[in-house]
Amino acid sequence: MAIYITEECINCGACEPECPNTAIYEGGVEWELAGKSYGADDGAPSDATGFYSDEFFYIVPDKCTECKGFHDEPQCAAVCPVDCCLPDEKHVETEEVLLKRKDYLDELGR
Ligand code: SF4
Repeated sequence: MAIYITEECINCGACEPECPNTAIYEGGVEWELAGKSYGADDGAPSDATGFYSDEFFYIVPDKCTECKGFHDEPQCAAVCPVDCCLPDEKHVETEEVLLKRKDYLDELGR
């Protein structure tokens, strides 16, 4: 399951450099995957929706592995001072899927 950032986010930016998958972006900033940029109106390759934010840092489900393969726990949640990085019930995934995503991102070089 991907992690998502709630509206409680204070935009401190502590999470972004901790993400091993470059899955976290500042609000309003386009995200990138496999050499392509995606904005507010672009669909994600996985068809995930509702994660982009103009106002707060956001996490791209297509790039989040819940830190599987890197750490024992989501690093964004571990450093967030207001505990606004939570499991996203809309994007529930198995460990197998998350590790396959890590392999895919490894191949891309992130
Ligand atoms: Fe990045 Fe890990 Fe947070 Fe997912 S759980 S956004 S991979 S730091």
